[in-house]
Amino acid sequence: MAKTKRGKVLWKLTSRGRGTCPVCQATRIKLLYTRTTSDGTQLNVCKRCSKASEIL
Ligand SMILES: [Zn+2]
Repeated sequence: MAKTKRGKVLWKLTSRGRGTCPVCQATRIKLLYTRTTSDGTQLNVCKRCSKASEIL
């Protein structure tokens, strides 16, 4: 399986896969995980928030 969360593949992504996490507001963090909110919106979130049970 290709690694999609590390290495050169990140360079193809917007801002090289980094940004501000909409959930924990961490800046310049890698947003490599998607979460669906209760209203069906897809959010790109960081690793920490991908595992958190509740979206803030
Ligand atoms: Zn986060």
